[in-house]
Amino acid sequence: MMQIIKKLWIVLFIWAFFSGVMPALAEEFLSVRKVYDGDTIELQNGVHVRYIGINAPEISHENLPAEPFALEALAFNETMVSSRLVRLQTDQETSDQYHRMLGYVFLKDGTFVNQEMVRSGLAYVLYKAPNTTYDNVLLKAQQEAMKSGKGMWGNWKEKNTSYSGNRSSRRFHLKTCALGQRISTQNRIQFGRKWDAFWAGYSPCKKCMGQGPIE
Ligand SMILES: [Zn+2]
Repeated sequence: MMQIIKKLWIVLFIWAFFSGVMPALAEEFLSVRKVYDGDTIELQNGVHVRYIGINAPEISHENLPAEPFALEALAFNETMVSSRLVRLQTDQETSDQYHRMLGYVFLKDGTFVNQEMVRSGLAYVLYKAPNTTYDNVLLKAQQEAMKSGKGMWGNWKEKNTSYSGNRSSRRFHLKTCALGQRISTQNRIQFGRKWDAFWAGYSPCKKCMGQGPIE
């Protein structure tokens, strides 16, 4: 009889674990070993994590100079997570083509690191379906940063020109970009300024606007 009860407990335990009845077990906190830039870290177990839903300016790599605000973004990310314990939340896709884990990063006090990066104006919203759990939260944080001129949004200057946005991918392009010219009429939206595109949650195409928001 005891044997059967024991077996039942094991079955119940396994079921509870996989069905999410015991989320506490999945909420493991891991220490951050290295901060690479404003959106990438390495954990104590060697796993590289790319923050989902945002993009921070690139630091210097392959002889390319650092993009504006890249070092500020790195420093701010470091002050938040360096040598700290973090918890990862994943979305539909758990890794990218570089074998990095894709995650929403939280501190023990509940700080949502992805959101703080955007709120500081040192990263912008990068929409990527199907990983869209915190889409609205992140866009709201960006609009706050834009309104108060934080980080990259301060002293914003740009001439009115014309950009083509894709409602489906939420990327925007220069008029001359072949990718932009291929957007279907149904998905196409015009922006007169980059600012308006960012405000609506669109991010710049890497092919035609490699340097990100600031020229
Ligand atoms: Zn483009």
